[in-house]
Amino acid sequence: MRPKKRYGQNFLINETIVNKIITSENLENKVVFEIGPGRGVLTQKLARQAEQVFAFEIDYTLSLYLDPIKDKNANLEIIYGDVLEVDFKKFIANNNLNNVICIANIPYYITGLLLKKLKETKEISTLILMLQKEVAERLTAEPGKRIYGSLSVMFNFYYDIIKVVDVKRTNFYPVPKVDSVVVKMVRKDDYLKKVNDLNFFQEFVEAAFKQKRKTLVNNLRAHFNLSSKEILNRLAKMEPSFNPLERAENISIKRFISFSNGWNND
Ligand code: SAM
Repeated sequence: MRPKKRYGQNFLINETIVNKIITSENLENKVVFEIGPGRGVLTQKLARQAEQVFAFEIDYTLSLYLDPIKDKNANLEIIYGDVLEVDFKKFIANNNLNNVICIANIPYYITGLLLKKLKETKEISTLILMLQKEVAERLTAEPGKRIYGSLSVMFNFYYDIIKVVDVKRTNFYPVPKVDSVVVKMVRKDDYLKKVNDLNFFQEFVEAAFKQKRKTLVNNLRAHFNLSSKEILNRLAKMEPSFNPLERAENISIKRFISFSNGWNND
């Protein structure tokens, strides 16, 4: 059976990488959501070690590979359909699941939507994901780097993120056009507790990065429809020595929290 490009089917063929992914987390007592099990290279090992595995696969024809794995593992369930249509919160509640984590070599064409969905499901504590290298670099970027943006801020706000392993494109069949990186993201709430209004924080961060070449003041001015002087006053309230020429790409999460918390205070 030929891999289907439209479903982002690039199957992992290096056992060493599979093992690195599996051993990057203690799977005992964990319920694992796998997105896109494909031919089951990760699935069979996950099922051997985790308490329970739910694998979400859009391509029913892969049951040819997945059914035999399922037959050997009573703790594995394959759910066929588009994972983006699954309501994870409901799924977790209906099945009375605890200790849910997600481990997946994801289809890259849905990366953005999937990351958003996983971020919004606070019941899923840890993500171990194979991502396109460029996305992984943005997720792990520090302030001051050109690629540091709202994605970096929002994901580092919710997770501690580490790189597990670099994966060259030659480790997949068929060989994709990009290299990959496996990242491990562990949910935390220390930043969350410091934010007064989460929606406003998110709006503020997105506005700050709207046009990356503009200064923070100019981006905020455009978004909030206020004068530069007023914007500077509000920023200087929280940071008296704020540099008016500073860009969002230099601003740490802590500073974004402080600016957004103080924005409407008198
Ligand atoms: N886990 C396998 C591996 O590592 O070899 C396959 C990974 S492959 C990059 C992505 C998998 O996601 C494919 O099996 C593909 O059919 C599946 N997939 C694509 N879109 C999907 C969707 N919307 N919902 C669920 N699975 C999807």
